[in-house]
Amino acid sequence: MNNNFVKGSWQEILDWAQNKSINMLHYCTGCGAIELPPTMTSRYDMSRFGIGPAATPRQADLLLVTGYLSTKTLRRLIYTYEQMQAPKFVVGFGSCTINGGMYWDSYNTIKQLDKYLPVEMYIAGCMPRPEAILDGLLKLKKMIADGEADGYQRYQDNLEYYHQNQEAVLGEVQRTQ
Ligand code: SF4
Repeated sequence: MNNNFVKGSWQEILDWAQNKSINMLHYCTGCGAIELPPTMTSRYDMSRFGIGPAATPRQADLLLVTGYLSTKTLRRLIYTYEQMQAPKFVVGFGSCTINGGMYWDSYNTIKQLDKYLPVEMYIAGCMPRPEAILDGLLKLKKMIADGEADGYQRYQDNLEYYHQNQEAVLGEVQRTQ
């Protein structure tokens, strides 16, 4: 049997399984974090979609960045992301992660999260409502099932680009990847 066929079929099974159980590390930067408790608890109950919290980066598949990100926190976010096992996914909340939002001219926040880490998708809103968060996460599940959530591969393929951007802001960064 063709090796590519076996690899492709196996990957499809993995993608299917992964989208059924997503362990989420909510890196609560910024104001969007306040919308997570109602999304996780009984009213919106995200666990019915197979999405739940993870205790540590090594157990997590999904890294939520819930708003503006100071340069000081960016360093911790990079260390956290690099501890996660692939396949792993990053989702940004709100305009602050897209273009800096209301902090666009701040001296100590970053403007574009995807210059530093590979973002799978953004959830719009300042701040996004629980309905928008659930809608975004369901779209992410579909991307995973369809094999379209490939940020961790982009990170590997463009490691030099990400490292250069990270070091331009932070100086030296300890590396695990
Ligand atoms: S996008 Fe709005 S809600 Fe989110 S962190 Fe920025 S200012 Fe706060």
